[in-house]
Amino acid sequence: MRWHAEFAWLGDGVATDVLIEADGERFTTIIPDVPAPPDAHRLPGLTLPGLANAHSHAFHRALRSRVQADHGTFWTWREQMYKVADRLDPDSYRALATAVYAEMALAGISCVGEFHYLHHRPGGAPYDDPNAMGEALIAAAADAGIRITLLDTCYLAGGIGTPLKGPQLRFGDGTAGNWARRVDSIYEHTGKAGRLHARVGAAIHSVRAVPREQIAAVASWAKERQAPLHIHLSEQPAENEACEAAYGMTPTRLLAEAGALGALTVAVHATHLTEEDIGLLGATLTGVCMCPTTERDLADGIGPARDLRDAGAPICLGSDQHAVIDLFEEARAVELNERLRTRERGHWTAGGLLATATSNGHFALGWPEAGRLEPGAYADLVTVAMDSARTAGAAPGYTAEAAVFAATNADVRNVVVSGREVVREGRHLLVGDVAGMLREAIGAVTGEGEGEREE
Ligand SMILES: [Zn+2]
Repeated sequence: MRWHAEFAWLGDGVATDVLIEADGERFTTIIPDVPAPPDAHRLPGLTLPGLANAHSHAFHRALRSRVQADHGTFWTWREQMYKVADRLDPDSYRALATAVYAEMALAGISCVGEFHYLHHRPGGAPYDDPNAMGEALIAAAADAGIRITLLDTCYLAGGIGTPLKGPQLRFGDGTAGNWARRVDSIYEHTGKAGRLHARVGAAIHSVRAVPREQIAAVASWAKERQAPLHIHLSEQPAENEACEAAYGMTPTRLLAEAGALGALTVAVHATHLTEEDIGLLGATLTGVCMCPTTERDLADGIGPARDLRDAGAPICLGSDQHAVIDLFEEARAVELNERLRTRERGHWTAGGLLATATSNGHFALGWPEAGRLEPGAYADLVTVAMDSARTAGAAPGYTAEAAVFAATNADVRNVVVSGREVVREGRHLLVGDVAGMLREAIGAVTGEGEGEREE
């Protein structure tokens, strides 16, 4: 395949008239300042590497709009989230996740990190295939045309010293040993089956949900396989208080002592940290996944993204509960949150923010060979219109700034994932009517969809 980009972000800046070639799923050629060959697909606008959504819970998409009614709190949100979780089975989850991942593709996302803990039947009994739900997510990503890292999540307790109960019973494997046996099977199957679009990593739900000695067991599983390990960290002050009370230390210190930090680990949120926590994460090169649209939606607070980056922790981005799915919005919020907090501008460049949305995210998901426009990298392209009402008039030298600070997911025109065209002129080529698919899949799991529509 051959493309010709009007503008393309090559990591160290924006180049013009860029010839891009791929053989199969990898780039072979990236050359700027070349006139368009007649057989090349023209890409007017700014072309970026594929975006990586490093933190997703696909089923939370069903909560959009519903959880904003009546001054919803974190707790009313959680109650509704459990209600949806209760209604999902492998078929309905596959349909919902396909629609959500198709929405992601339309937004320029070529790879998703699915933080997956909805493992078993309601009540906790395993499906005939104990990985049926994880398999549904891997199949959904294939149907939507994007790559996935299934971050299979160990979730053992409802809180420190509290057993799982009610809707949470589906999440649990009993022990980290049982979790590892189940995950080994999907991990090995995914490797052997030649599924080029999927990888399997590990996740620890949080220090609330996994006791100390079991944290170490999950961390060793990931380390032995050089697989990514993700964990929700200090999203709410209540987690820090519970951890201090039970263990006499912060969640970050607990993870450090359990051997769970390192360059293949990603701490998600990292909102309420001490100076020492920031130093520990930075010194171990632990990645941090910021989810600003979720953190503001749930009134979590503002994480210290700049201090973490300056300490050595690479920052990536996730849309988490999918209040919106728009990585441009996530990226600019990292800078804009910092501006509100410090009343100063200029903590991040547009290029630095694009790196959080692209190369850093792919690295965090265990795809270090993606997220860059260079020969050998995965052939993922996202073209952002520079002639929409939002971006028109951008200075030719500042298209990256226009993309990061003004564009939205609606400006994504063309998307190529692993060398395959998935979105053309804003239309999903595999799924077609993404909005219709979302409406139907969400109706099915909220119970609102049946017999209501007039058409
Ligand atoms: Zn999350």
